[in-house]
Amino acid sequence: MAKRDYYEILGISKGASAAEIKKAYRKKAIEYHPDKNPDNKDAEAKFKEAAEAYEVLSDENKKARYDQYGHQAFENGGGFGGGGMNMDDIFSQFGDIFGGGGFGGGFSGFGGGGGQRRVKGSNLRIRVKLTLEEIANGVEKKIKVKRKVQAPGTTYKTCSTCNGSGQVTRIANTILGRMQTSAPCNVCGGAGQTIDKKPSDADAQGLKISEETVSIKIPAGVVDGMQLKVSGKGNEAPGNGIPGDIIVVIEEEAHEKLQREGDNLHYDLYVSYPDAVLGTSQEIDTVTGKVRIKIEAGVQSGKILRLRGKGIPSINGYGRGDLLVHVNVWTPKTLSKQQREFFEAMQNDEHFMPKPDNTDKSFFEKVKDMFS
Ligand SMILES: [Zn+2]
Repeated sequence: MAKRDYYEILGISKGASAAEIKKAYRKKAIEYHPDKNPDNKDAEAKFKEAAEAYEVLSDENKKARYDQYGHQAFENGGGFGGGGMNMDDIFSQFGDIFGGGGFGGGFSGFGGGGGQRRVKGSNLRIRVKLTLEEIANGVEKKIKVKRKVQAPGTTYKTCSTCNGSGQVTRIANTILGRMQTSAPCNVCGGAGQTIDKKPSDADAQGLKISEETVSIKIPAGVVDGMQLKVSGKGNEAPGNGIPGDIIVVIEEEAHEKLQREGDNLHYDLYVSYPDAVLGTSQEIDTVTGKVRIKIEAGVQSGKILRLRGKGIPSINGYGRGDLLVHVNVWTPKTLSKQQREFFEAMQNDEHFMPKPDNTDKSFFEKVKDMFS
C-alpha cells in the first residue's frame, strides 16, 4: 500500500507552522480516537496514520528530512521499523495533546504489549581500545563495569495509584465533549509496582552499584567508532523490569607499521639501493605475525606488492582484505669517495637510464588498480 503524504493526512499545507501542525493533528486524533470509534479498524488505522505524520512533522529534524526525501527518508531503519506505531507508543508520546498534564518521574518506561509495561534499566556505555591484531583476529575482553543491580532485601508492592495496571485513566473535557484517555501511571512510571522495603544502602529505586567483570566477545573486522550491544548487561531495573544493555564503543589503536584502509592494510617497505638492484627477501609485520617476502632484482620504487587475504576480515563475514606492501627504494644521502666515483662513472651508463615499460606502471595507474 502506498503511503499517503503526511501533510495530506493532517490536511495541511507544506508551509504550516508548528502550531498549525499540532492543531491539525489534535483534530484528527480526536476524530479517530478509539474511544469515539470503538471496534472501528478503519478509524484506528487513520488514528495511527495521523500519529505517524505528527511524529515526523512535529520534529524539526525529521520534518526537514521528510520535506527533502519524502517517505524514503525513513526507510532502512530510519523511521518506524516497518511495523508503524502501536497505540501505546502514541499515547505515551503524544498523550499530552489530548489534555491532561505530562508524565514522567518514576522509572523510565519501556513499551510493552498493552496495559502494564515492563521497565527497562538504563544502558551503560563503555569504550574498548583494540589493537589492529585484536581487530583482525577477534577478541574476548574482560571488562570491569559498575552497574546498578537490585539490592538484596528490596521488596515491591502493587502501585496504589494505578492498582498495578501501570495505566491511569483521565477524563478530559474537550470540544467534542468528555473523553476518556489513558496514560502511563505517574507514580510507578507504568511498571505497576512501587518499592515496599529497601535496605539502607540502596538508592530510591532499590538499586545499588555492583562491580562486575563482564566478558565481551568482539568479532573480527570491527571499525573505530562502531558500537556493539551486549544485551541485558547494563543497569538492572527495579521490580519485574528488565536490565538495560552495555553499549561497547570500539576504539582502534594506531599500529606502528600498518595503516588500515577499510579491510585493506598498507605497509611501507624500505629497501636499500643494492637490495633493489640485486633482489632480496625481507620480513614484514602482518596482523597474523611476521611474514618473509621476496623482493625481485630490479624492483622499482613505488611498486606495490599485494598479499592477498592478509588484511582485515570483513565484519559481514565475506572474505578478507589484502595487505599492500609499498616498495620504497632508499637513496643514500652520503657516499664515500669510492662510492661517489662509482656513481659518477655510472651517470651516463646505459643500464642506469630509466626505461619504464608497461610492467612499471605509473603511480596513478597503480592507484587505479588498487581500487578496481
Ligand atoms: Zn502506578
